[in-house]
Amino acid sequence: MEKKNKILSITLVLAMLIGTVALSGCTQEDENKIIIGTSADFPPFEFKAANQTIVGFDIDLIKKILTDQGYTVEVQDIGFDSLIPSLQTDKIDVIAAAMTITDERLLEVDFSNPYYDANQAVLVKVDSGVNITKIQDLKNYTIGAQTGTTGWAWVNDTLVATGNLSEDKFRSYELYTDAVADLIIGPSRVGAVVIDSPVAQAFAKSGDVRIVLNITTNENYGFAVKKGNTELLAKINTGLAGVKATAYWEDLIEKYFTT
Ligand code: GLN
Repeated sequence: MEKKNKILSITLVLAMLIGTVALSGCTQEDENKIIIGTSADFPPFEFKAANQTIVGFDIDLIKKILTDQGYTVEVQDIGFDSLIPSLQTDKIDVIAAAMTITDERLLEVDFSNPYYDANQAVLVKVDSGVNITKIQDLKNYTIGAQTGTTGWAWVNDTLVATGNLSEDKFRSYELYTDAVADLIIGPSRVGAVVIDSPVAQAFAKSGDVRIVLNITTNENYGFAVKKGNTELLAKINTGLAGVKATAYWEDLIEKYFTT
């Protein structure tokens, strides 16, 4: 009886050992896989194609950088405001979301070298009667921006905090696509949207909305990794420099920013 028990426990230990080896095999495979977090509401940097796959300048670029270095990648669509918390809790490995490098964010994440420049712009609906020619005109309308963005911070700091826009006229959106959809419904919803200039240009291509004002903020986009993930960051920076030195970079700009 005792002998049987012994054999049983040896068998169990062996089974557990085999299990552990099999599992660590899995983990190693996963180590080669990078999860890219984005907020797919920001054309041409990240958006959903007709078949719902996530595409865009950032997505092509980071995929190229990582796959060239032997990684496999997966893209996850997460609200912009949840991207940094997701990175900090290891749900994602890198943020590719036209994210501006700011001092505030640098306290929470590490950024790659800059890969694109932007400013802010004000979008209104075409033929809506909204009359904005200078910053001071914004106070006459409900203004929309996406929570957690530099556009949102600009409205908050420059207009709301200074008393130049009443708080009830500042509308926060989880997604910029929803902000622009409201803009198209009309000024009763939202009169103007403050948004990154290259994205404003992309939305204006529809012909439904147009840019009435540019606001110089001198922003640079970077890819973000978890603080201290120097290995991945170095690979991204090397890859970025490499891609910029090839025709792939010009082709990418042509693909997403011309037409
Ligand atoms: N560049 C802006 C920021 O970092 C907006 C980014 C976005 O909405 N995806 O806040």
